[in-house]
Amino acid sequence: EIVSTAGCKPQHVKSLVDRGFAQYTSSDEQLLEKADIDLNHAIAALQKSDKYLAIWEYLRKEEGSALASDLRSSIGCTRKHLSVLEQADIIAIHNVEVWRDPLAGKEFITEQPPKLTDDQAVCWERISLSLSDSEGERKFLLHGVTGSGKTEIYLRAIDQAVKNNKQAIVLVPEIALTPQTVRRFAARFPDRVAILHSRLSAGERFDTWRRARQGDFDVVIGPRSALFAPLERLGVIVIDEEHDEAYKQDPPVRPPYYHAREAAIKLVELCNAVLIMGSATPDVVTYHRAQRGEFGLLELPKRIMGHREWVRREAKRLRIDTSRYQDWDKDTPDALAAEMPPVQMVDMRHELRVGNMSIFSRLLRSELSRVLDSNQQAILFLNRRGTSTYVFCRDCGYVLRCPHCDMPLTYHRPNALLVCHHCGETERQPEKCPVCSSRRVKYFGLGTEGVEQTVINDFPQARILRWDRDTTGKSSAHEEFLLKFVNGEADILIGTQMVAKGLDLPLVTLVGVISADVSLGLPDYRTGERTFQVLAQVAGRAGRGLLGGRAIFQTFNPEHYAVRNASEHDYGGFYAEEMAYRMNLMYPPYRRLARLEYQDPDKHQGRVAGIDLAHSLQRTIDDMMLTSTEIIGPNQPFFHRIGGRYRWQIVIRSPEPTRLLQEVAIPRGWRVDIEPMSLL
Ligand code: ADP
Ligand code: ZN
Ligand code: ZN
Repeated sequence: EIVSTAGCKPQHVKSLVDRGFAQYTSSDEQLLEKADIDLNHAIAALQKSDKYLAIWEYLRKEEGSALASDLRSSIGCTRKHLSVLEQADIIAIHNVEVWRDPLAGKEFITEQPPKLTDDQAVCWERISLSLSDSEGERKFLLHGVTGSGKTEIYLRAIDQAVKNNKQAIVLVPEIALTPQTVRRFAARFPDRVAILHSRLSAGERFDTWRRARQGDFDVVIGPRSALFAPLERLGVIVIDEEHDEAYKQDPPVRPPYYHAREAAIKLVELCNAVLIMGSATPDVVTYHRAQRGEFGLLELPKRIMGHREWVRREAKRLRIDTSRYQDWDKDTPDALAAEMPPVQMVDMRHELRVGNMSIFSRLLRSELSRVLDSNQQAILFLNRRGTSTYVFCRDCGYVLRCPHCDMPLTYHRPNALLVCHHCGETERQPEKCPVCSSRRVKYFGLGTEGVEQTVINDFPQARILRWDRDTTGKSSAHEEFLLKFVNGEADILIGTQMVAKGLDLPLVTLVGVISADVSLGLPDYRTGERTFQVLAQVAGRAGRGLLGGRAIFQTFNPEHYAVRNASEHDYGGFYAEEMAYRMNLMYPPYRRLARLEYQDPDKHQGRVAGIDLAHSLQRTIDDMMLTSTEIIGPNQPFFHRIGGRYRWQIVIRSPEPTRLLQEVAIPRGWRVDIEPMSLL
């Protein structure tokens, strides 16, 4: 009957029976329909199109739109399935910007904000008071070691501002490098956050700007330019990692040149908003200003391991003992305290003396093996500035040393000079080895690639990730790198300054600093500070998880105050020594600097122009009797040639350089940089 009325073939009937959509009664060949079969699914299965149906239903459930990646992972369809549907005009595929978070799900987020620790409560009391009292303190420096709970304070401040119908701006040094921080803000204020990351197209940027002006957002997060988001009810500005040099807009970026911190200070004054600047390693000038009372100084000296509940779960998952994570105290039920990771210094001069010519000390090498054996992770950090190390003869092993202090000389790329990090002596690279006359006298070329090569040789089993501007290129690649490392697809992360930024990587139990002092030889008054900051920050990456951790600083200058204090996590100790040095040489904060720079393809043009300008500056100083104002130069800075143009500079050192600059007509061709980030 069925075959004749439906005009089908007996195989069709057989198919239905084979798939269990119908069945025969036992005796005669009578066909029975099965009651519980969904017709749509049955037909889809018979036509081998069940994936298409599943896609369709998934989209229905998601109210018409979904991410292709979600579709693929939850119903196991392929890109092909999607394009078939697209060609049949059943679905449309668009590209959308997605804020992908490599760390989604890795962080413990409680519904209620955690109860504050005692230290946090002290800070919070002052900030919350100022938020509710328009006459109160307006600017704060929140100095707290890495992992001390600063972000929690920012979140509360914003929360309170939003409840008072105000808006907030959060500045981070670089969005792509701080996904964890960004995500915490986005999670606490869902739907009302705009993230100004660098991958926004011009159109999306404009759209965000327009929506900000319309009042669609409570919180805008972004790099320095986010400061200019048009918010009408600005209540709070947070500057995370306030010491970061990325906050200064310098050439080659187009003008205006500004420091986001100074601009933010002015902006909160104009809007009567509250400013919170946070850092584990504040700029010494900022800290000095706070100590003198210009900013409220708030301190968080202890590291928080994390929320008690999170620690319990993690410990269970990793099967480890938690007795080392002490209770903070009885009044703070949520947080468990942790120690800062111990830092061991290795004197590389000693390694050389015992014949170890490798870039790895014996200690670092053995710690790396331990990490690899126990399936943990390590970060190897290389200072980007002055990528260099000692120079030796590949044939006889003779190491070139400074004639004055017997320290190994190091090679500096910009001028191909050998520099003594101890006394500053510079020499040309010799053509021949002074001992055996071999021509194979080479500097040990040390970039991240060199480190990678050494790891490959020494630990062939290690899975390596090299993270620097060369390997990532476009900014979106940063997140992919992070994700790989977080997912345990690599054992060792090798990188430059980027790895020192705000990463929180729980499986990292070792941070190895290949050479702690490569930047110390650079003739700039801020090299000590810069070295301290990057070392303290990178050491702070170790021991963020329950497995604990440690850092190793390899150095030729173990006695240098920047290296020593960083190894002890001692900001106060560093600050005292740095300030003594600044006082001695009358550098900021005791004087302010302005740099006038001239660039020209002709070698002498800048000097000629500089002599003229220096004269007229000096004449004005004399006329105005600016007795504490000095002119240094014209001279050639350390990087004396950039892109084929010779650089000359004049530095003004004065309590208030603008007083002088306002009186002197600065000729064309000079670029004025107030409070330059460096004099290099
Ligand atoms: P920072 O910003 O100084 O690096 P965080 O705010 O990220 O520090 O805090 C470090 C860790 O401790 C985070 O995992 C955070 O969730 C957690 N934490 C911060 N404050 C508390 C608290 N009061 N109770 C419980 N956990 C906390
Ligand atoms: Zn030799
Ligand atoms: Zn020397």
